[in-house]
Amino acid sequence: MTTLQPDILIAGAGIAGATVAAGLRGRGYSVVHLEASTQPLDTARGDHLGPRVVETLANWDILDAFFAAGAEKRLGAKWLTPEGVVIMHSSIDDLPLPYPFYVVLNHDLIATTALDLAVTAADYDYTLFRPVAARDISTGADAHGGVTEVSITTPEGEAVTIKPRMTIACDGRSSKIRAACDFQIAHTYDYEKPFVVLFGPRGELQDPRNEINSYMSLNGGVSRIPRIGGQWKIGLAIDKQDIGRWKSTTSDERKALLAERAPALGEMETEVAGFYPVIRRESDYWTKGTTVLLGDACHTIHPARGQGMNFGIRCAARLFDFLPDPTEMSDAALVAQRLADYEAAVKPLTDAQLSENHERGLHMDCTGPERMQAEIPTLRAVAADPDANFRYRMTMAGYPDRLDPK
Ligand SMILES: Cc1cc2nc3c(=O)[nH]c(=O)nc-3n(C[C@H](O)[C@H](O)[C@H](O)COP(=O)(O)OP(=O)(O)OC[C@H]3O[C@@H](n4cnc5c(N)ncnc54)[C@H](O)[C@@H]3O)c2cc1C
Repeated sequence: MTTLQPDILIAGAGIAGATVAAGLRGRGYSVVHLEASTQPLDTARGDHLGPRVVETLANWDILDAFFAAGAEKRLGAKWLTPEGVVIMHSSIDDLPLPYPFYVVLNHDLIATTALDLAVTAADYDYTLFRPVAARDISTGADAHGGVTEVSITTPEGEAVTIKPRMTIACDGRSSKIRAACDFQIAHTYDYEKPFVVLFGPRGELQDPRNEINSYMSLNGGVSRIPRIGGQWKIGLAIDKQDIGRWKSTTSDERKALLAERAPALGEMETEVAGFYPVIRRESDYWTKGTTVLLGDACHTIHPARGQGMNFGIRCAARLFDFLPDPTEMSDAALVAQRLADYEAAVKPLTDAQLSENHERGLHMDCTGPERMQAEIPTLRAVAADPDANFRYRMTMAGYPDRLDPK
């Protein structure tokens, strides 16, 4: 039986866990990382990282690796009538930001690229066990209510006990760590309309700005979203009972269904990439003693605004500001205090953004004409008012704290 006592245990290597593992390079902490699956992440999920997260990735020396892996820049988004007339154009490259662009990279590549950086980093006391799930989890007073011990069997069959000084739970929406530490779910909601994602052929897209086009149709909204390599991705909320119909559609039938929402999309060849039931699950607290929840383990949200990965990485960036020095990590009371300070500083603003995201998710549950009739004038008003427009774009870029144009 081997016992490991890392400064930090990370559970889960999705976007949150993989970027945290890469972000901890060069900081002097010893890290043990557990990932339950050997499969790459679902490529059809989020691929859009905002300017604030881009700033974090640059600070963590990850951004260049993302570009080397094929990442591209996105410079804005447009809201259009079904016929293609622009209602609002939300550009990003004219904002006063250090990195005035979104980064687009396939979901699976974000995680594998970040994880590769962690695994290959020199002078980084980092051990990844994969496939190994955190299941046998003990909590207790030594960790001030957080995780004291995780027992695992390595892929080679060795029994290992991990006694972490701090635990970052990045194990997704059904987090085992969250359950073991007895966090409660404060906000729960099952949205009515699932999402369907379609892919167009690679190499078809000719838009150097890689902008998202959202069509505001009275028959329901639909977004055409550039992926890397000149590929389109199409996302739309549909009725639950229509999943079977969408699953068995031919490309021509999908053309007709898309044309009902936006004639401009009626000529596109597509394949079905995935269906996603959508839920809201927000934990009551973010930290318990020396354990902290991050990413979907902390807050699983509606993809209405493409913010799930972004929230996870933004919270991680703030968390790093509060970590004790590596030499102080054996002081459990100090670790617990710093995590509590992190929660007190970051949760209130994030809670407000999560509530707003939920409102947006509720809107997307309503694909009828009333939603568009309410939304189109709002978008036109934001487009026409330079101050409101600036505020909107800065908030979407991840800088709601820098709304003063001066
Ligand atoms: C259709 C769709 C589109 C989206 N678009 C965007 C977008 O454009 N931008 C954006 O920011 N967000 C987007 N999101 C949200 C985003 O995908 C998620 O918020 C994000 O991927 C969550 O990452 P995570 O690492 O927290 O969790 P997960 O991706 O769920 O990763 C959890 C990891 O933990 C592992 N694991 C689970 N249990 C254990 C255990 N016990 N021990 C060890 N490992 C374990 C799992 O195998 C997994 O690898 C979208 C979501 C959907 C559904």
